[in-house]
Amino acid sequence: MTFKILRFDAQKDNRPYFQVYRHVPKPHETVLEALKDIRDQQDPSLSFRYSCREAVCGSCGMVINGRICLACRTQVGDLGANEVVIEPLPNLEIQKDLIVDLKPFWDAYRKVEPFLQAPGDVPEKGHVVAEKDMEKVFQYITCILCACCYSACPVATRDGRYVGPAALAKLYRFTLDPRDRRPFSALERVDGPDGVWGCDTVFRCNDICPKDVRPADGIEGLRRKIIAGKTKRLFRRKP
Ligand code: SF4
Repeated sequence: MTFKILRFDAQKDNRPYFQVYRHVPKPHETVLEALKDIRDQQDPSLSFRYSCREAVCGSCGMVINGRICLACRTQVGDLGANEVVIEPLPNLEIQKDLIVDLKPFWDAYRKVEPFLQAPGDVPEKGHVVAEKDMEKVFQYITCILCACCYSACPVATRDGRYVGPAALAKLYRFTLDPRDRRPFSALERVDGPDGVWGCDTVFRCNDICPKDVRPADGIEGLRRKIIAGKTKRLFRRKP
């Protein structure tokens, strides 16, 4: 089979180019395994990120035959083509070959303070949360921070200031958590065109997410919470 892989070294190349490799995949071989074989047997300079090889670490997001996905979760045989074209994630600068600079993704993620804010001492037996409350949160907990949604997002393509689907979905996850006590101002920080109102609601993030997080649901949820919070504040004002 032909593997056409985008190559670029920010240190020495002026522009990216495709390099073609021939490789015979084993039965049920994933694209990640094929890349490792090509690197080990043909070209040790070929660079790509991976770690767990089982869709937990979120490291091997890339574009395979035009679709953003995890290489460890994509079997070569399932692509139904004799040629596999592999490119790095869009919306992020290429550092080397299939490795992109994830800094903008992480910077946006940090902005929403993606950690539990439960003031006071932790109860002796830990926080007890009812199962029904956690059920609402589970959808968002499965995010592996692969940045596939960020790369697929048309808003992130045209506006680098946009916080992006993964970060917004994470913020929504904490607003659903009964232990979290973050103030309404934390939501107001994303109440603008760089935040929830920037979303085009084209649902590419939902479509692309390998863990079925459905980040656009979280963005919609945040919008509702922001509107509800502002309305409540309006009615609380004294005449
Ligand atoms: Fe990846 Fe889905 Fe999390 Fe986005 S929401 S970073 S696509 S796992």
